[in-house]
Amino acid sequence: MTKRVVEHATCLGCGCACDDITVVVDGDRIVEARNSCALGRAWFADGSVPRETRAGGKPVAPDVALGDAAKLLARAERPLVYLAPDISCETQRAAVAIADRLGALLDSPTGEIAAGILASQRRGRAGATLGEIRQRADLVVFWGVDPADRYPRYASRYAVDPAGLQAPDGRKSRRVVAVDVGPSRGAADADERVAIAPEHEVDALALMRAVVLGRAIGEDAVARVATGLATRMLHARYVALVHDAEPSPHGSPLHADRTEALIALAQALNGPARCALSSLRAGGNRSGADAVATWQTGFPFAVDFAGGYPRYRPHAGAAVLLARREIDVALLVGSPAGVPQAVAAALGQVTTIAIGPRASAAPFRPTVAIDTGVAGIHEGGTAFRMDDLALPLRPALSGPAVAADVVRALAARLMKGRS
Ligand code: SF4
Repeated sequence: MTKRVVEHATCLGCGCACDDITVVVDGDRIVEARNSCALGRAWFADGSVPRETRAGGKPVAPDVALGDAAKLLARAERPLVYLAPDISCETQRAAVAIADRLGALLDSPTGEIAAGILASQRRGRAGATLGEIRQRADLVVFWGVDPADRYPRYASRYAVDPAGLQAPDGRKSRRVVAVDVGPSRGAADADERVAIAPEHEVDALALMRAVVLGRAIGEDAVARVATGLATRMLHARYVALVHDAEPSPHGSPLHADRTEALIALAQALNGPARCALSSLRAGGNRSGADAVATWQTGFPFAVDFAGGYPRYRPHAGAAVLLARREIDVALLVGSPAGVPQAVAAALGQVTTIAIGPRASAAPFRPTVAIDTGVAGIHEGGTAFRMDDLALPLRPALSGPAVAADVVRALAARLMKGRS
């Protein structure tokens, strides 16, 4: 069989959403994903996914599964609609409509980083697209994150290596500073390293901001580190301050104060210098879930329709309500493998309908499971990069059912009151 080539495919293996991937298909299998990193190759794999439709633990026809799902949701007293990764914005939008129709709680893995989102909402943000950072940044500060670990092409595509308008010699035009915060280390190939103890991190950021604002600070060890870092930033033409917005791989809780302090520092620098805070996000179109929820409801996650209109409940999202056993039926749309562990464990305790890639393999054994394709591999549509840039998806394979079609069919049954 001859090989087929799909150019400009978009990888959703991490939030970089690299859209320069050439996928080579042999028969019904992906045999190569050119330009992708190891994480991207693992995400594409060979493109094979299960194609089952199950209800009550048995294989059933799709129509039967949809009928069972509609019945369960129609009877639910406190339903949850959860937007898991690996679905397109079109599918997310259809799922939001179901949450609205049911008066459900709508949530997504963004609930895990609620503290950082709330900090952004309180303070606003000084951000930029990755394209602007590539064109303009001459000082890149990796604050407690080495992008090589979870965002492998961030440095080569955007912030460090490529040439830009104001960085004509690429890497040679830029200075890279790694700030190591305890075990969270900055980029390995930095020009300069600075170590800060985790307990001094927020103080150091506050002192840096004070230096940027021209205030006098003390002369202890933390103040000296802060003065040195802030002075380098003040002398740069354009600073990219890069941090990891996802939960720490070291198991420490996301530090709300850290995010707020980083935002405040980036804002203060936009006066005497220029600075963009670049927040690294995981893949699977997580950023798309935030964008779709915001444009449909006004809020990015933890949106409660129970009162007949969208209410923001960032402190009473899916994880909290599941733990309190307030949810009786959950509709999960997306890949169960991308659901945070605490939520996945709790979904095993309630009646769950799963529609998405590898739904039939969900560890929490959904009552109804409908396998669909993976957005970007089997399904087209739109996904968002970590900097909220919308990108088209170019599928390489035909898959099982299309997630957006299945969710819309379920919505149509609920609208008609059929069961
Ligand atoms: S950096 Fe991320 S988006 Fe790019 S190829 Fe690797 S996993 Fe995929």
